[in-house]
Formats: sequence, C-alpha cells, structure tokens
Amino acid sequence: MGGTHIGCGLVENHRLLASAEVSSEGAQSLHSLLATIAQALHSLLSQTGLQSTDCAGLAIGFPGIVDAHTGRILSTLKKYEDAPHLDLPGWSMEEFGIPLRVENDARMALLGEHYAGSAKDSDDVVMMTLGTGIGSAAMIRGRLLRGVHFQAGCLGGHFPVDFRGRLCSCGNIGCAEAEAGGWALPSVAREWLGFSRSALASSEPLNFKALFAQAEKGDPVAIQIRRHCLDVWAANAVALVHAYDPEVVVIGGGVMKSSQAILPAIQEHLNQHAWTAWGKPQVRAAMLGNQAALLGSIPLLLEDMNDATI
Ligand SMILES: [Zn+2]
Repeated sequence: MGGTHIGCGLVENHRLLASAEVSSEGAQSLHSLLATIAQALHSLLSQTGLQSTDCAGLAIGFPGIVDAHTGRILSTLKKYEDAPHLDLPGWSMEEFGIPLRVENDARMALLGEHYAGSAKDSDDVVMMTLGTGIGSAAMIRGRLLRGVHFQAGCLGGHFPVDFRGRLCSCGNIGCAEAEAGGWALPSVAREWLGFSRSALASSEPLNFKALFAQAEKGDPVAIQIRRHCLDVWAANAVALVHAYDPEVVVIGGGVMKSSQAILPAIQEHLNQHAWTAWGKPQVRAAMLGNQAALLGSIPLLLEDMNDATI
C-alpha cells in the first residue's frame, strides 16, 4: 500500500503470476478502498483460473507500525488513518476465506529482496527505501527484526541526522526523511541559497527525478542539493550499519533509477565512516522494485513467526 496507489499481485514461489494497481489518491479511508481491493484481487484470481482458497493466504504491506502477530495496524502516518480500527484478518476471512498477514511495507520489501532479489546470498541485511518517505528494515541472522512493540528496524528513516533540523511528521526533529525524503524535498530546495536562479525553480513536480536530471545537466544548486541528499542517505546508512550489524545494505525506491550516482557515494561514505570490525558492508541496489513487497508475501506467509522474529 503506497502513498498514491496499492499494488496487488498473485504470487507463486518466486514469480508474480498477475498484478494490478488500485489508485488510492484522494481516498478518505482504507475502509472505503476495501471493496475495490477485493474486486482487483478477485479479478487476478479469475485471470489465472484460481480460487482464493488455492492460496496460502493474503499478505498486506502497510506503511506504518503493524502488529504482525494479530494483523492489527497500530500506528499510521498521515495515510489510511482509519486502518487501526479495521479488522483486516476478519475481512480477509469473510471475503476470501483465507488467513491474512500484515507487515510493515519496508519489512515486506526486505523479505522480498532476501527471498528473490539482491540479498539472496546474505542473512544479515538492512534495507533503506528512498521514496516519499524513507523506509527501513533489518534482518539479523535470517530473522526479521520486529521488536516487542513491532517498531524495531522499521523506523530507520526517522533516525535523526541533524538534531537542529526540520520538524518531521513523526514528531521528531531532523529525521533523515525530514531532511532528504521525497515529501521534504520541495521545501529543502525552496530554502536553498540561489534556488530562484536554479532550473529547479520551474520544475513541476519538484521530485528526485527532477533533482537528479538537473544535477546531471550541471545546475549548480541541483548539484548542491543532490550532494545534501546523498550525505543524508549515507549518514543514515552508517546509522543502520551501527545499529543492526548487516553485511549487505540494500537501497531501493524510485530514485534508484539514478543508482550510478547513489551507490558509490553511499559505499564510499560507509567505507570511510562506519565502525565495523570485520570488513565493510556491501551497498547494493534493490533488484525487484515494486515487486519486492509482493514477493515478500511468500516468506511472510510461510514464516513461523515465533521462531522467525526477534
Ligand atoms: Zn521522523
């Protein structure tokens, strides 16, 4: 479930059998979208000639803090705010006759990249997803880090990188996503010295795509802001490494279309600044894009949660 759309898919082993998108733009509540989501899933099933009861279950990747044991959404951040009041497992049973698992979206993406993507060869992984916000997740010795209140590992985008910085939507100050997340980028740019003379001033929408394109063309302000974003992401990657002891750092999100400008900068910063006693974690681009969370539904549904969680 993303900010502007909900990606739906039918997954078998390492393969996406069918997929569809439901727009969530302007939706007042998650409740108001459930019927449309159900319709999309039923249509995927009929496209592939399957019944819902042929499936092991239904999995939802949600942008918030989620109780993965009960399928309850515990806390949201400015999107789908009614979700904590919904009985999603009950809805799944009633609509499809199958059990439901809900997990934080960044954890689902990490599960997917570990199962079928760029972290297949490592059990010690952190993932940072650079998008409208900054998502994170951590896997330690093959077990997904959740914590007693289900917020361990998934709030890495809210590590403060500047304690005198910007107020974040989460309530904290100077979070990585408040300093260099997609939602903060327009205000970061507008306050930048010389912004009005930059090509960014006429970029609509002012997003990472525009920023990287203008920096590539040599716009001096765009180059400075790109440097600022890379520095924030790299500092955040060091914090994730210090916190979770990974061997692989996977970076995902739409901005990774410019991965050739991002990966070396973060790798170099990690090599220089991360305190590790064994070598340096490898920085890799996510391989599965939007499919990561969908493919992550397989390991999530198969997981023995009591055993797999830390
Ligand atoms: Zn925050």
